[in-house]
Amino acid sequence: MELDLIVKGGTVVTGNDIYRADVGVAGGKVAALGVDLGTTPRIVNALGKYVLPGAIDVHTHLEMPFMGTYTADDFRTGTAAAAAGGITTVVDWAIQEPGESLFATLEKWDKKAAGKTVIDYSFHVVLTDLSRNALDEIKDVVRNGIGSFKCFMAYKGTPLMQTDSNLFRIMRRVRDAGALFCVHAENGDIIDVLVREYVAQGRLAPIYHADTRPPEVEAEATARAIALAEIARCPLLMVHLSAKEALQKVREARDRGLPIHAETCPHYLSLHYEELERPDFEGAKFVCSPPLRRRDNTPHLWSGLREENLQEISSDHCAFNWKLQKELGRDSFANIPNGIAGIETMIPVVFSEGVRGGRLTLNQFVRLTSTNSARLFGLYPEKGTIAVGSDADLVVFDPDRKVTVTRELLHQNVDHTPYEGFSVTGWPAVTISRGEVVFENGQIVGRPGRGRFVKRRATTSV
Ligand SMILES: [Zn+2]
Repeated sequence: MELDLIVKGGTVVTGNDIYRADVGVAGGKVAALGVDLGTTPRIVNALGKYVLPGAIDVHTHLEMPFMGTYTADDFRTGTAAAAAGGITTVVDWAIQEPGESLFATLEKWDKKAAGKTVIDYSFHVVLTDLSRNALDEIKDVVRNGIGSFKCFMAYKGTPLMQTDSNLFRIMRRVRDAGALFCVHAENGDIIDVLVREYVAQGRLAPIYHADTRPPEVEAEATARAIALAEIARCPLLMVHLSAKEALQKVREARDRGLPIHAETCPHYLSLHYEELERPDFEGAKFVCSPPLRRRDNTPHLWSGLREENLQEISSDHCAFNWKLQKELGRDSFANIPNGIAGIETMIPVVFSEGVRGGRLTLNQFVRLTSTNSARLFGLYPEKGTIAVGSDADLVVFDPDRKVTVTRELLHQNVDHTPYEGFSVTGWPAVTISRGEVVFENGQIVGRPGRGRFVKRRATTSV
């Protein structure tokens, strides 16, 4: 067989296996696994390194309008930074504007991505308005390869927040279409009351963003979403679960056999509430929703990951510059755009804290960052594993490279990283997307626009 490229001398790690093998690539697919695969025009040296399936980030916000501004990374810079961080597929949230059809929303996101992406991509749809025929469109959207939807239970006073009746109506249609429903679970009514009180009392610093969104508002909304999904008999995934109290609700539901899934994000595993207290408005860099939790919360999330009550880790990359964007909230935390930049640092941070920190096995790490996301979001087995016939989305990962994270090192188009000065062990050396090297020697070499839109199957099995 004619091979185009061989990844040579590495240790292949999948969700289940660890073994020494060379990986032969032909036509963008994995074509052979073994030794002595012959010669090719291109050899990628993986000696002393792991060869991982490319990570799948199912939670990104690229060029997203929010609070009167746009996220700083678009599909060009965001997917380039993803490639540099060992990610080979992103699934971005396409947000319906009120009055817009779901297909018009998807067209808008197609335009944002067209000609720009360095790696493969897909979208989910966020529903905000059922006044036209959005409910009827759901099944056709699923037929077009978009098998997941989301609603917000927070952000009162904006079109994002949905009532229980809307959630329930959407869940039934999503269930009928065989798709997966996702939810941002925080009780927006309670947050609204607390924010008004804090603002009236003149408590305006970034830390109060966290104090007005306590763990209980996440736990309440999580429990309510699970109850609604149980009545609607709809598979559910809690995005960016942050609090142990919410995890407990997911655990109880899963113990009862309900199809409830959950995601967490690298910042909830590695950064804490105290960061928001940094002086001179620096705390604003850490404003995201749900907020960073206290230090004693984190071990519970690692336990949730180990027992796979949390099934996947995604970045929730939602980058806003500190200057001019986060600064919109200088006078009040209520006006700080919510979001943390983390697409490029996700894999090193989770590997370092998880695997090097003795909290996850290597196989668990691959399942949580790639295989489970592929299965939950209808990308498996083309993505999420290394097997003959799967896409040659591969990361040659150096488990021993020590890096101190700085803004200058990264490719994200944002003026800071929340991980400035953070030490990690383990860093991507080479990223390969469908058989093409897109990142090596610290440089992004993949051409913007080479990434393909991936149609996803409606599936919810892990
Ligand atoms: Zn998000």
